[in-house]
Amino acid sequence: MTSMPPPVSSRLSDSFGRRITYLRMSVTDRCDLRCRYCMSEAMTFMPRREILSLEEIAQLAEAFVARGVRKIRLTGGEPLVRRGITDLAHMIGRLQGNGLDELTLTTNATQLATHAAGLADAGIRRINVSLDSLDPDCFRHITRRGDIAQVLGGIAAAKAAGIAIKINMVALKGLNDHEIDPMLRWCAAEGHDLTLIETMPLGEIDEDRTDRYLPLDRVRADLERHHTLTPLPDRTGGPARYYRAEEVGARIGFITPMTHNFCEDCNRVRVTATGRLYMCLGHDDKVDLRTALRNGGPAELDALLNQAMRLKPLRHDFRIERRDAAPAVERHMSVTGG
Ligand code: SAM
Ligand code: SF4
Repeated sequence: MTSMPPPVSSRLSDSFGRRITYLRMSVTDRCDLRCRYCMSEAMTFMPRREILSLEEIAQLAEAFVARGVRKIRLTGGEPLVRRGITDLAHMIGRLQGNGLDELTLTTNATQLATHAAGLADAGIRRINVSLDSLDPDCFRHITRRGDIAQVLGGIAAAKAAGIAIKINMVALKGLNDHEIDPMLRWCAAEGHDLTLIETMPLGEIDEDRTDRYLPLDRVRADLERHHTLTPLPDRTGGPARYYRAEEVGARIGFITPMTHNFCEDCNRVRVTATGRLYMCLGHDDKVDLRTALRNGGPAELDALLNQAMRLKPLRHDFRIERRDAAPAVERHMSVTGG
């Protein structure tokens, strides 16, 4: 375990000089929901034998922290459906203060009521919760099966456990666009941040994403009719830009991979539940860390990470405006880890 920052020479940086300090780890590609923009109704999931063990995931986390990663997000699929997720959070949580600044998680919150206290105990202080609607029927329609009461119960439990919450809402034309203003007001009242996201062309779903695509420039202009949005300097090295909605007193972020990509600042890579490391959501370049983990040693793993850095592309090139266009990549967001 590293207690000092790793030497500059061993820190991960790509061929464009970007330092890689943020790792997203998908702990499973499975999910108890089937959000329409994310998955098809009949998803085929990866065979369980392909999936890394919790110990292997923790080992990878440690290897990345030794190479300068300072923030890790557990995601999926739905991370809370993975058995032993709280144990994993404890294993990785121990790296906080030892090279890792923050361990966090993105969840749909259906099982959060059960896990909130354990996650807080593992040192998780902030989480992202995906919530695309507060209306029970609309929520069930978008997720194809979700029960909003369960999700709100999970959010309340996390809040009670002292975990700060950011709500992620994918803006979907004709589905939840009328709920964006109410969601902002609800977040303000509950003390949550809100981030709006443009839908991205990742993996085949049962619908044409073009029908639901809503550019956030338009959403922001609509919100500005009722709210003063003051730009904030807050940056995460990610594609979000943040504002304060002055009258209601909430922070709102806009993730605009389609209308404005901010790839030049990208500081992140993603590892799948099977141990494949992807350098960009929108490209297929990858390295297989599982083989190195199982059959090699630390030197092989380090060499693969160096190779991965050379593969990181400058930017993605998502396009969604053409009807019936094929997804940019075949992988669903639930595989790469959103
Ligand atoms: N199941 C968890 C959840 O929903 O929060 C974590 C994984 S999910 C893939 C992570 C995030 O990706 C969620 O906020 C979800 O709304 C978003 N997402 C999934 N597919 C997307 C897509 N095609 N375009 C944009 N965002 C997407
Ligand atoms: Fe599951 Fe999250 Fe995808 Fe919805 S967005 S289907 S909750 S992985």
